[in-house]
Amino acid sequence: MTTLALYGGPPIRTRTFQPWPQSDQTELGALAGVLASRRWGGIYSGSQGEAFERALGEYLGVPHAAVVSSGTAGLMIALKALGVGAGDEVVVPAMTYVATATAVSVLGGTPVFADIDADTHTIDPASAEAAISEKTKAIIAVHLGGHPADMDRLGRIATEHSVPLVEDCAQSLGATWGGAHTGSLGQVGVFSFASTKNITAGEGGAVITHDAGLAARIASLRDHGRPLGVTGHHLELGWNLRLSEFQSSILDVQLERLDHQLTAKARGAAFLTSALSSTPGLRSVPADLAPRVTRHGRFSLAFTLDPEAFGNISISSFRTALRAEGIPVGLRDLTACPDEPIYADDTTRDYSHSRTVSCTRARAACTRLVMFGQAAGSGMLLDDSSELTDVVRAVEKIHDNCGQLREAERQRGTTPVPSGS
Ligand SMILES: *Cc1c(COP(=O)(O)O)cnc(C)c1O
Repeated sequence: MTTLALYGGPPIRTRTFQPWPQSDQTELGALAGVLASRRWGGIYSGSQGEAFERALGEYLGVPHAAVVSSGTAGLMIALKALGVGAGDEVVVPAMTYVATATAVSVLGGTPVFADIDADTHTIDPASAEAAISEKTKAIIAVHLGGHPADMDRLGRIATEHSVPLVEDCAQSLGATWGGAHTGSLGQVGVFSFASTKNITAGEGGAVITHDAGLAARIASLRDHGRPLGVTGHHLELGWNLRLSEFQSSILDVQLERLDHQLTAKARGAAFLTSALSSTPGLRSVPADLAPRVTRHGRFSLAFTLDPEAFGNISISSFRTALRAEGIPVGLRDLTACPDEPIYADDTTRDYSHSRTVSCTRARAACTRLVMFGQAAGSGMLLDDSSELTDVVRAVEKIHDNCGQLREAERQRGTTPVPSGS
């Protein structure tokens, strides 16, 4: 018998994997250039922001891109530009980062939660359609983990009901559906450049669209309701949600690296998916990539765990034991949005109204996820199979020694406390 690292045995891995985010001298040069220019912010012709917007629009195949201060800011702006306000409903998936829903709430709107597809964990089109009412002003598709939602079916539903389709691409920059980039398929696409995302400046975001009229409103809402190129006049209520020149200059550099990284991550993910496929109890999310998913964004590589195959240990024990073996894995359960206190608990100060159509599959998925990659703060999917094979060894070690975890759970009557995070 081998002792698990959680109980003092030697860990499978002591070296680190590739870090995230990645950077080199190019970022340093870009930052120095902005510093020396003495133009560190603002919206002006010839800015770093403008250059990055052009590069991003070209990369994604859309004519209009606007940089903003965060992905959440981008969602707020996109929804407001589409006319979402007090009393309006917006259909969102029940499993997503909470900002997808709170962007609706801060505008006075009501998020309506639809369930997820059990295989891909993206919004279930049938549930989204069931969520539509006469108050619905938009549907938000989230490409969770970098896996595109079913844009064919969602597009048809949105068209039939004359409701705009917004894409939350915070986790999916570079992913493609039927050869077209996520973000370019609906009316508006929103990206995040926060620390774990596919390109990052620590914080930041972008809003893209094919529609010139929407693009003008987006640019204006980001800059106090002042139309692009106009000085002095503020024509509508907006915010300051601009991005700094430092951030835009870094993003321009990071975008150059994106395709190369996506290729490396696809290789790492394919290796791990295949190597772990024979482990009983671990199921890849999704089981197979659908033909319409022409590129996965690989924000994460996700599995669901069936505890029965691991001696009925808690998923928390599994994750903590894996972390102790030197494998970066997310330690916490996700929370389905309807269960977040702001939506579930009407005694909280900021209780917000919402409506839930269905949340059964979202709830089940949240408590069974095992996530690798940037979702766990690691760049390990960039690593070669010679490194990633340690993940497989660690999972096998836990599988073969799950009795130690079960015994510890029995003695404690609880699950282990995550260490160091
Ligand atoms: C990160 C994220 C956001 C919010 O982006 P920020 O830049 O952190 O504001 C929204 N939706 C999803 C799915 C995200 O992952």
